[in-house]
Amino acid sequence: MSNAQCLFCRIVAGEIPATKVAENADCLAFRDIGPQAPTHVLVIPKRHVGSLDALSDGALGAALLAMARDVARAEGIAADGYRVVTNTGANGGQSVAHLHFHVLGGRKLTWPPG
Ligand code: 5GP
Ligand code: ZN
Repeated sequence: MSNAQCLFCRIVAGEIPATKVAENADCLAFRDIGPQAPTHVLVIPKRHVGSLDALSDGALGAALLAMARDVARAEGIAADGYRVVTNTGANGGQSVAHLHFHVLGGRKLTWPPG
């Protein structure tokens, strides 16, 4: 299922260009347009899922996290450490209503987030 109004569904459909870094049958990884770290990649399900709160498929969740891990390794940030985060809903700071995991690394990240 895809949503014609959804930005990330349109990236999956090829209607909006993105720099892809990994892809399989269910998941896609591409570079964030506004990187917050030297490596900033988004990992998304190809089918529309609004947020983590709407995710009911545990196997899909595992596949997304596995791709996030593999992207970190491929980007060369795994050894020094990195962060995977998904902002959920208004208080979480989610701005695109299609589930995505941010993979951030390549610099020392601060904690806690704002
Ligand atoms: P959120 O704020 O929902 O956690 O993350 C949305 C992310 O999507 C942001 O980091 C933002 O920079 C990224 N983004 C928004 N529009 C585009 C786009 O058209 N292409 C790409 N590659 N990233 C986008
Ligand atoms: Zn979507």
